[in-house]
Amino acid sequence: HVSGDSLLKQVGRKLLKISKQISVNNHLMSNDQIVARLSGNNFVIGLSNLESRNLAVTLCRQYMHDIEHPYKLRNVKIDLKFNAGLVVFPEHGRSLDVLLQRADIAAVQALEERRTFCEYDPEYGEYTQYKISLMHDLKKAIDEDALELYFQPKLDLRDWQIRGMEALLRWNHPEHGFVPPDQLVKVAEDTGMINQLTCWVLNKGLAYQQRLKQQGLNHHLSINVTATDLLNVKFIHHLTEKLEQVDYTPGSLTLELTESTMISDPERVLEQLKQLSKLGIRLSIDDFGTGYSSLAYLQKLPVHELKIDKSFVMDIAKSQDNQVIVKSIIHIAHYMNLSVVAEGIEDLDSFDLLSEYHCDMLQGYWISRPIPFDQVLEFMVHFDLSAKRASVA
Ligand code: C2E
Ligand code: MG
Ligand code: MG
Repeated sequence: HVSGDSLLKQVGRKLLKISKQISVNNHLMSNDQIVARLSGNNFVIGLSNLESRNLAVTLCRQYMHDIEHPYKLRNVKIDLKFNAGLVVFPEHGRSLDVLLQRADIAAVQALEERRTFCEYDPEYGEYTQYKISLMHDLKKAIDEDALELYFQPKLDLRDWQIRGMEALLRWNHPEHGFVPPDQLVKVAEDTGMINQLTCWVLNKGLAYQQRLKQQGLNHHLSINVTATDLLNVKFIHHLTEKLEQVDYTPGSLTLELTESTMISDPERVLEQLKQLSKLGIRLSIDDFGTGYSSLAYLQKLPVHELKIDKSFVMDIAKSQDNQVIVKSIIHIAHYMNLSVVAEGIEDLDSFDLLSEYHCDMLQGYWISRPIPFDQVLEFMVHFDLSAKRASVA
């Protein structure tokens, strides 16, 4: 908090400095410019009596250019990124509330398009408003423990037993209802909250895994992580600390990463992966087959598992093409000493095909949908594959 406050003050001072410079260069009167901090890390700059709309765009560009300057915390340089939304009175709104809300929408659009600023456009519409509302509420939801973690069981084909589970985020937003987890993760990434979110999942997941252990069930836990997490030293520290605190059995936690994660910064990712591997953490490539992994590159990584994307698995019984793809992936993975999970098993036919191909683990609605933790124990104890097959047959 202290560091955050210090940065906010530095940004505030810098904004005032830019504003003075702009006033002098453009002969603005002192009350033609207002610089204020609205909330958190939101600042607003009001400019009046400008001779043209183009000047507003030029000045916005200048603000955004000058504000990107090296900030320091205890002599360490900090890179800050800024996004702005530009609104013009009265075209974009006649009341302050509407103008501020639309500036917010335009700023989110800028973030999405990786631009420093965007001028409001009514086309940005409702979806952006929905996202803004999610952004504002996510932090609160994490702090107040209002998110939920569901678990999807994973079946081991060697003995037809449930041996693991994947943790999947669920958020029932008080106003918008169910928020799809991939959307939630994207919002967290865009607002710099992903690390907090992943740590929340990790803490909850490990705590639940310990509770199962106390009941005599040594189930394996998989959690999803993003490139941002992997490249964050704080995340690795948190993970190390957490594993020391719990009674961790090496090999019982898997981090699932998508292929694009690997590609974003391969050298640094490789270093982090090696460190994680030393901690006894397994690594899995999620949604395999949808990205562009080079096999040569895969072999260099300390990866333990490939997870075949559900798009190849869901209709496998009907698609010869997918049968060839899935069979080949399993062969290659086994040659490379990797274990294979197929996700998206929705029926008995797919189950049988994947068993025939010697896939190692299966996950999918046919075995179980993701379930809340209070149903997990019951499911694990009573799951009986033979009975399930018989009931379908
Ligand atoms: P994923 O990691 O590939 O997770 C598998 C997704 O497939 C889950 O969707 C699961 O409910 C769904 N699925 C499993 N079996 C079947 C099936 O038989 N049929 C069909 N149609 N779908 C099946 P979900 O829970 O909506 O999650 C979507 C994605 O959101 C996840 O894909 C993952 O990329 C992301 N996600 C979820 N939780 C987290 C999290 O805690 N952290 C991060 N970083 N990402 C997460
Ligand atoms: Mg996954
Ligand atoms: Mg997947």
